[in-house]
Amino acid sequence: MSKYKKIVAVLLCFCAAVLMLSSCKPGNGKASRGFEAMDTYMNIDVYGADEALLDKLQASIEGLDGRLSVTSPDSEIYALNKNGSAKISASTADLVRQTLTLCADTDGALDVTVQPVVEEWGFISGDYQIPTEERLKGLLDSVDYRLVSCGGSDISFEKKGMKAGFGAVAKGYAADEAVKLLKDNNLESAILNLGGTVAAYGEKPDGSKWKIGIADPENSASYIGYVSCSNKIVATSGSYERYFKGDDGKIYSHIIDPETGRPVDNDILSVTIISESGLLSDALSTALFVMGREEAEKYYSKNGGFDFIILTKDKKAYVTKGISDNFTVSEGKGYEKVLVE
Ligand code: AMP
Ligand code: MG
Repeated sequence: MSKYKKIVAVLLCFCAAVLMLSSCKPGNGKASRGFEAMDTYMNIDVYGADEALLDKLQASIEGLDGRLSVTSPDSEIYALNKNGSAKISASTADLVRQTLTLCADTDGALDVTVQPVVEEWGFISGDYQIPTEERLKGLLDSVDYRLVSCGGSDISFEKKGMKAGFGAVAKGYAADEAVKLLKDNNLESAILNLGGTVAAYGEKPDGSKWKIGIADPENSASYIGYVSCSNKIVATSGSYERYFKGDDGKIYSHIIDPETGRPVDNDILSVTIISESGLLSDALSTALFVMGREEAEKYYSKNGGFDFIILTKDKKAYVTKGISDNFTVSEGKGYEKVLVE
Protein backbone atom coordinates (compact mmCIF):
# COMPACT_ATOMS: atom_id res chain seq x y z
CA MET A 1 0.00 0.00 0.00
CA SER A 2 1.39 3.47 -0.84
CA LYS A 3 2.29 5.83 1.99
CA TYR A 4 -0.50 8.23 0.94
CA LYS A 5 -3.15 5.48 0.86
CA LYS A 6 -1.96 4.22 4.23
CA ILE A 7 -2.37 7.67 5.79
CA VAL A 8 -5.86 8.06 4.30
CA ALA A 9 -6.85 4.54 5.44
CA VAL A 10 -5.58 5.10 8.98
CA LEU A 11 -7.36 8.48 9.14
CA LEU A 12 -10.61 6.90 7.89
CA CYS A 13 -10.46 4.12 10.46
CA PHE A 14 -9.57 6.59 13.20
CA CYS A 15 -12.60 8.73 12.37
CA ALA A 16 -14.83 5.65 12.14
CA ALA A 17 -13.54 4.55 15.53
CA VAL A 18 -14.22 8.00 17.04
CA LEU A 19 -17.75 8.00 15.64
CA MET A 20 -18.44 4.50 16.94
CA LEU A 21 -16.82 5.07 20.32
CA SER A 22 -18.63 8.31 20.88
CA SER A 23 -21.86 6.38 20.73
CA CYS A 24 -21.12 3.23 22.71
CA LYS A 25 -20.34 2.52 26.34
CA PRO A 26 -16.84 1.34 27.18
CA GLY A 27 -15.93 -1.66 29.29
CA ASN A 28 -18.29 -4.33 28.01
CA GLY A 29 -15.84 -6.96 26.89
CA LYS A 30 -14.80 -5.58 23.54
CA ALA A 31 -11.94 -7.26 21.70
CA SER A 32 -10.41 -5.08 18.98
CA ARG A 33 -7.82 -5.44 16.28
CA GLY A 34 -6.47 -3.44 13.35
CA PHE A 35 -4.57 -4.95 10.43
CA GLU A 36 -3.83 -4.48 6.75
CA ALA A 37 -5.49 -6.69 4.16
CA MET A 38 -6.95 -6.29 0.66
CA ASP A 39 -4.79 -3.24 0.10
CA THR A 40 -6.51 -1.30 2.87
CA TYR A 41 -6.64 -0.93 6.64
CA MET A 42 -9.22 -2.94 8.56
CA ASN A 43 -10.49 -2.60 12.09
CA ILE A 44 -12.64 -5.14 13.91
CA ASP A 45 -14.41 -4.73 17.25
CA VAL A 46 -16.16 -7.82 18.61
CA TYR A 47 -17.99 -7.86 21.94
CA GLY A 48 -17.52 -10.94 24.07
CA ALA A 49 -14.74 -12.31 21.86
CA ASP A 50 -11.24 -13.47 22.75
CA GLU A 51 -7.95 -13.18 20.86
CA ALA A 52 -8.42 -16.62 19.31
CA LEU A 53 -11.66 -15.50 17.66
CA LEU A 54 -9.98 -12.34 16.35
CA ASP A 55 -7.22 -14.58 14.96
CA LYS A 56 -9.87 -16.64 13.12
CA LEU A 57 -11.52 -13.52 11.67
CA GLN A 58 -8.22 -12.07 10.52
CA ALA A 59 -7.15 -15.44 9.05
CA SER A 60 -10.44 -15.73 7.16
CA ILE A 61 -10.00 -12.27 5.57
CA GLU A 62 -6.32 -12.80 4.82
CA GLY A 63 -7.08 -16.24 3.37
CA LEU A 64 -9.61 -14.77 0.97
CA ASP A 65 -7.19 -11.96 0.08
CA GLY A 66 -4.52 -14.61 -0.61
CA ARG A 67 -6.84 -16.52 -2.97
CA LEU A 68 -8.14 -13.49 -4.88
CA SER A 69 -5.03 -11.31 -5.17
CA VAL A 70 -4.18 -10.25 -8.74
CA THR A 71 -0.59 -9.46 -7.80
CA SER A 72 0.47 -12.37 -5.58
CA PRO A 73 1.85 -15.32 -7.64
CA ASP A 74 0.44 -17.78 -5.07
CA SER A 75 -3.18 -16.73 -5.59
CA GLU A 76 -5.85 -18.70 -7.42
CA ILE A 77 -6.92 -15.69 -9.49
CA TYR A 78 -3.28 -14.90 -10.36
CA ALA A 79 -2.98 -18.44 -11.77
CA LEU A 80 -6.24 -18.00 -13.71
CA ASN A 81 -5.08 -14.71 -15.21
CA LYS A 82 -1.68 -16.10 -16.11
CA ASN A 83 -2.81 -19.40 -17.66
CA GLY A 84 -6.39 -18.71 -18.77
CA SER A 85 -7.62 -21.54 -16.54
CA ALA A 86 -7.12 -22.74 -12.96
CA LYS A 87 -8.32 -25.03 -10.19
CA ILE A 88 -9.99 -23.01 -7.47
CA SER A 89 -11.14 -23.70 -3.92
CA ALA A 90 -14.82 -24.19 -3.08
CA SER A 91 -14.98 -20.78 -1.39
CA THR A 92 -13.49 -18.97 -4.41
CA ALA A 93 -15.82 -20.87 -6.75
CA ASP A 94 -18.80 -19.79 -4.64
CA LEU A 95 -17.68 -16.17 -4.80
CA VAL A 96 -17.04 -16.38 -8.56
CA ARG A 97 -20.47 -17.89 -9.31
CA GLN A 98 -22.38 -15.43 -7.17
CA THR A 99 -20.41 -12.52 -8.65
CA LEU A 100 -21.02 -13.65 -12.23
CA THR A 101 -24.75 -13.72 -11.45
CA LEU A 102 -24.51 -10.12 -10.22
CA CYS A 103 -22.58 -9.14 -13.38
CA ALA A 104 -25.55 -10.51 -15.37
CA ASP A 105 -28.16 -8.91 -13.09
CA THR A 106 -26.53 -5.50 -13.55
CA ASP A 107 -26.30 -6.07 -17.30
CA GLY A 108 -22.51 -5.87 -17.19
CA ALA A 109 -22.21 -2.60 -15.25
CA LEU A 110 -20.30 -4.86 -12.87
CA ASP A 111 -17.90 -6.89 -14.97
CA VAL A 112 -15.03 -8.73 -13.31
CA THR A 113 -13.29 -9.15 -16.68
CA VAL A 114 -12.68 -5.39 -16.94
CA GLN A 115 -9.40 -6.18 -15.13
CA PRO A 116 -7.01 -5.66 -18.12
CA VAL A 117 -8.49 -2.18 -18.57
CA VAL A 118 -8.12 -1.40 -14.85
CA GLU A 119 -4.48 -2.46 -15.14
CA GLU A 120 -3.89 -0.44 -18.30
CA TRP A 121 -4.92 2.78 -16.55
CA GLY A 122 -2.40 1.92 -13.81
CA PHE A 123 -4.88 1.37 -10.97
CA ILE A 124 -3.13 -1.82 -9.84
CA SER A 125 0.51 -0.81 -10.25
CA GLY A 126 0.12 2.86 -9.37
CA ASP A 127 1.88 3.81 -12.64
CA TYR A 128 -1.02 5.85 -13.95
CA GLN A 129 -1.46 6.61 -17.63
CA ILE A 130 -4.18 7.55 -20.10
CA PRO A 131 -4.44 4.74 -22.68
CA THR A 132 -5.05 5.53 -26.33
CA GLU A 133 -8.53 4.85 -27.75
CA GLU A 134 -7.00 2.19 -29.99
CA ARG A 135 -5.43 0.39 -27.03
CA LEU A 136 -8.72 0.54 -25.09
CA LYS A 137 -10.62 -0.82 -28.08
CA GLY A 138 -8.23 -3.76 -28.26
CA LEU A 139 -8.56 -4.50 -24.55
CA LEU A 140 -12.37 -4.19 -24.57
CA ASP A 141 -12.45 -7.00 -27.10
CA SER A 142 -11.82 -9.46 -24.30
CA VAL A 143 -13.99 -7.81 -21.62
CA ASP A 144 -17.10 -9.95 -21.19
CA TYR A 145 -18.09 -11.73 -17.97
CA ARG A 146 -20.17 -14.19 -20.08
CA LEU A 147 -16.90 -15.68 -21.35
CA VAL A 148 -15.91 -16.94 -17.90
CA SER A 149 -16.75 -20.63 -17.32
CA CYS A 150 -16.85 -21.84 -13.76
CA GLY A 151 -17.92 -25.41 -13.03
CA GLY A 152 -16.99 -27.29 -9.87
CA SER A 153 -13.43 -26.38 -9.02
CA ASP A 154 -12.51 -25.43 -12.60
CA ILE A 155 -12.51 -21.92 -13.96
CA SER A 156 -11.43 -20.79 -17.41
CA PHE A 157 -11.71 -18.00 -19.94
CA GLU A 158 -13.18 -18.58 -23.36
CA LYS A 159 -11.00 -15.96 -25.02
CA LYS A 160 -7.28 -15.23 -25.01
CA GLY A 161 -5.99 -12.22 -23.11
CA MET A 162 -8.82 -12.21 -20.59
CA LYS A 163 -8.19 -11.43 -16.93
CA ALA A 164 -10.52 -11.22 -13.93
CA GLY A 165 -10.36 -9.10 -10.80
CA PHE A 166 -12.63 -9.29 -7.77
CA GLY A 167 -11.63 -6.00 -6.13
CA ALA A 168 -15.18 -4.68 -6.49
CA VAL A 169 -16.65 -7.46 -4.32
CA ALA A 170 -13.84 -8.91 -2.18
CA LYS A 171 -14.40 -6.81 0.94
CA GLY A 172 -18.14 -7.48 0.84
CA TYR A 173 -17.62 -11.23 0.54
CA ALA A 174 -15.01 -11.06 3.32
CA ALA A 175 -17.66 -9.35 5.47
CA ASP A 176 -20.14 -12.17 4.74
CA GLU A 177 -17.59 -14.83 5.72
CA ALA A 178 -16.74 -12.89 8.90
CA VAL A 179 -20.43 -12.64 9.83
CA LYS A 180 -20.77 -16.42 9.37
CA LEU A 181 -17.86 -16.94 11.75
CA LEU A 182 -19.43 -14.62 14.33
CA LYS A 183 -22.73 -16.52 14.09
CA ASP A 184 -21.02 -19.93 14.33
CA ASN A 185 -19.32 -18.74 17.51
CA ASN A 186 -22.57 -17.47 19.03
CA LEU A 187 -21.40 -13.89 19.20
CA GLU A 188 -24.03 -11.18 19.23
CA SER A 189 -22.41 -7.82 18.74
CA ALA A 190 -19.61 -6.60 16.48
CA ILE A 191 -18.64 -3.83 14.14
CA LEU A 192 -16.20 -4.75 11.40
CA ASN A 193 -14.73 -1.96 9.32
CA LEU A 194 -13.08 -3.69 6.38
CA GLY A 195 -11.56 -0.62 4.74
CA GLY A 196 -14.82 1.25 4.34
CA THR A 197 -17.07 -1.81 3.89
CA VAL A 198 -18.69 -2.04 7.30
CA ALA A 199 -20.49 -5.03 8.81
CA ALA A 200 -22.83 -3.86 11.57
CA TYR A 201 -23.45 -7.20 13.28
CA GLY A 202 -26.23 -7.47 15.84
CA GLU A 203 -26.76 -4.40 17.94
CA LYS A 204 -24.51 -2.39 20.21
CA PRO A 205 -24.19 -3.92 23.70
CA ASP A 206 -26.64 -1.30 25.02
CA GLY A 207 -29.25 -2.53 22.52
CA SER A 208 -29.13 0.50 20.24
CA LYS A 209 -28.25 0.49 16.53
CA TRP A 210 -24.76 0.99 15.14
CA LYS A 211 -23.94 4.35 13.60
CA ILE A 212 -21.97 4.15 10.38
CA GLY A 213 -20.42 7.32 8.99
CA ILE A 214 -20.89 8.13 5.29
CA ALA A 215 -17.61 9.62 4.04
CA ASP A 216 -17.52 13.17 2.76
CA PRO A 217 -16.26 12.84 -0.84
CA GLU A 218 -14.51 16.22 -0.49
CA ASN A 219 -12.69 15.15 2.65
CA SER A 220 -12.95 11.41 3.16
CA ALA A 221 -11.56 11.65 6.70
CA SER A 222 -14.86 13.25 7.74
CA TYR A 223 -18.54 12.42 7.27
CA ILE A 224 -21.53 14.01 5.60
CA GLY A 225 -23.86 12.04 7.85
CA TYR A 226 -24.48 8.63 9.29
CA VAL A 227 -26.71 5.60 8.95
CA SER A 228 -28.15 3.82 11.98
CA CYS A 229 -28.58 0.09 11.42
CA SER A 230 -28.16 -3.43 12.74
CA ASN A 231 -27.40 -6.68 10.91
CA LYS A 232 -26.51 -4.85 7.73
CA ILE A 233 -23.45 -4.51 5.55
CA VAL A 234 -22.76 -1.00 4.36
CA ALA A 235 -20.46 -0.65 1.33
CA THR A 236 -19.42 2.56 -0.36
CA SER A 237 -17.85 3.16 -3.77
CA GLY A 238 -16.45 6.62 -4.29
CA SER A 239 -14.53 8.26 -7.11
CA TYR A 240 -12.43 9.95 -4.37
CA GLU A 241 -11.14 6.60 -3.07
CA ARG A 242 -8.58 6.07 -5.81
CA TYR A 243 -7.86 8.40 -8.70
CA PHE A 244 -5.16 10.31 -10.50
CA LYS A 245 -4.89 13.65 -12.22
CA GLY A 246 -3.86 13.33 -15.89
CA ASP A 247 -1.45 15.65 -17.70
CA ASP A 248 -4.60 17.12 -19.23
CA GLY A 249 -5.65 18.27 -15.73
CA LYS A 250 -8.64 15.88 -15.61
CA ILE A 251 -9.37 13.53 -12.73
CA TYR A 252 -9.54 9.82 -13.60
CA SER A 253 -11.14 7.53 -11.01
CA HIS A 254 -10.76 3.77 -10.50
CA ILE A 255 -14.36 2.83 -11.32
CA ILE A 256 -14.41 1.84 -14.97
CA ASP A 257 -17.34 1.74 -17.36
CA PRO A 258 -16.95 -1.68 -19.04
CA GLU A 259 -18.72 -0.30 -22.16
CA THR A 260 -16.13 2.40 -22.85
CA GLY A 261 -13.09 1.24 -20.87
CA ARG A 262 -12.89 4.72 -19.37
CA PRO A 263 -13.28 5.88 -15.77
CA VAL A 264 -16.90 6.67 -15.04
CA ASP A 265 -17.57 10.38 -15.33
CA ASN A 266 -21.15 11.08 -14.32
CA ASP A 267 -22.82 13.24 -11.66
CA ILE A 268 -22.18 10.73 -8.85
CA LEU A 269 -19.56 11.24 -6.11
CA SER A 270 -20.32 8.10 -4.13
CA VAL A 271 -22.77 5.21 -3.85
CA THR A 272 -23.45 3.54 -0.51
CA ILE A 273 -25.46 0.32 -0.46
CA ILE A 274 -27.05 -1.05 2.70
CA SER A 275 -28.22 -4.67 2.65
CA GLU A 276 -27.99 -7.94 4.54
CA SER A 277 -25.46 -9.34 2.07
CA GLY A 278 -21.92 -7.97 1.92
CA LEU A 279 -21.43 -9.35 -1.57
CA LEU A 280 -24.60 -7.64 -2.81
CA SER A 281 -23.74 -4.33 -1.10
CA ASP A 282 -20.21 -4.28 -2.49
CA ALA A 283 -21.21 -5.41 -5.99
CA LEU A 284 -24.03 -2.89 -6.27
CA SER A 285 -22.01 0.02 -4.88
CA THR A 286 -19.71 -0.37 -7.88
CA ALA A 287 -22.42 -1.28 -10.41
CA LEU A 288 -24.84 1.54 -9.53
CA PHE A 289 -21.94 4.01 -9.72
CA VAL A 290 -21.34 2.83 -13.31
CA MET A 291 -25.07 2.94 -14.18
CA GLY A 292 -25.53 6.56 -13.12
CA ARG A 293 -28.24 7.88 -10.82
CA GLU A 294 -31.31 7.49 -13.01
CA GLU A 295 -30.51 3.92 -14.05
CA ALA A 296 -29.60 3.16 -10.42
CA GLU A 297 -33.07 4.28 -9.34
CA LYS A 298 -34.65 2.07 -12.01
CA TYR A 299 -32.54 -0.87 -10.87
CA TYR A 300 -33.66 -0.27 -7.29
CA SER A 301 -37.36 -0.06 -8.25
CA LYS A 302 -37.12 -3.24 -10.29
CA ASN A 303 -35.06 -5.36 -7.89
CA GLY A 304 -35.25 -4.00 -4.32
CA GLY A 305 -33.62 -6.01 -1.53
CA PHE A 306 -31.27 -3.17 -0.63
CA ASP A 307 -31.16 0.55 0.16
CA PHE A 308 -28.84 3.20 -1.23
CA ILE A 309 -27.47 6.64 -0.52
CA ILE A 310 -26.16 8.32 -3.66
CA LEU A 311 -24.22 11.57 -3.26
CA THR A 312 -24.10 13.73 -6.36
CA LYS A 313 -21.90 16.64 -7.46
CA ASP A 314 -24.78 19.10 -7.00
CA LYS A 315 -24.77 18.25 -3.27
CA LYS A 316 -27.83 16.04 -3.15
CA ALA A 317 -28.11 12.86 -1.11
CA TYR A 318 -30.57 10.52 -2.86
CA VAL A 319 -31.83 8.12 -0.20
CA THR A 320 -34.20 5.16 -0.62
CA LYS A 321 -37.25 4.94 1.59
CA GLY A 322 -36.10 1.88 3.57
CA ILE A 323 -33.18 3.75 5.11
CA SER A 324 -34.33 7.36 4.93
CA ASP A 325 -35.53 7.59 8.56
CA ASN A 326 -32.25 6.09 9.70
CA PHE A 327 -30.00 8.38 7.69
CA THR A 328 -29.05 11.70 9.24
CA VAL A 329 -27.25 14.39 7.25
CA SER A 330 -24.76 16.32 9.36
CA GLU A 331 -25.38 20.03 9.64
CA GLY A 332 -23.01 22.30 7.76
CA LYS A 333 -22.13 19.73 5.08
CA GLY A 334 -24.63 21.25 2.67
CA TYR A 335 -26.21 18.03 1.37
CA GLU A 336 -29.92 18.10 0.61
CA LYS A 337 -31.73 14.81 1.26
CA VAL A 338 -33.90 13.61 -1.65
CA LEU A 339 -36.24 10.68 -1.00
CA VAL A 340 -36.29 7.87 -3.57
CA GLU A 341 -39.60 5.95 -3.36
P1 AMP B 1 -15.29 -0.66 -5.37
O1 AMP B 1 -14.37 0.21 -4.58
O2 AMP B 1 -15.96 -1.72 -4.59
O3 AMP B 1 -16.26 0.14 -6.18
O4 AMP B 1 -14.38 -1.46 -6.41
C1 AMP B 1 -13.64 -0.77 -7.36
C2 AMP B 1 -12.56 -1.69 -7.89
O5 AMP B 1 -13.13 -2.70 -8.70
C3 AMP B 1 -11.59 -0.92 -8.78
O6 AMP B 1 -10.46 -0.46 -8.06
C4 AMP B 1 -11.24 -1.94 -9.85
O7 AMP B 1 -10.19 -2.77 -9.40
C5 AMP B 1 -12.49 -2.77 -9.98
N1 AMP B 1 -13.46 -2.24 -10.95
C6 AMP B 1 -13.53 -1.00 -11.50
N2 AMP B 1 -14.60 -0.89 -12.30
C7 AMP B 1 -15.23 -2.09 -12.27
C8 AMP B 1 -16.39 -2.62 -12.89
N3 AMP B 1 -17.17 -1.87 -13.69
N4 AMP B 1 -16.74 -3.90 -12.62
C9 AMP B 1 -16.00 -4.67 -11.79
N5 AMP B 1 -14.88 -4.24 -11.19
C10 AMP B 1 -14.51 -2.96 -11.40
MG1 MG C 1 -17.86 -2.54 -4.66
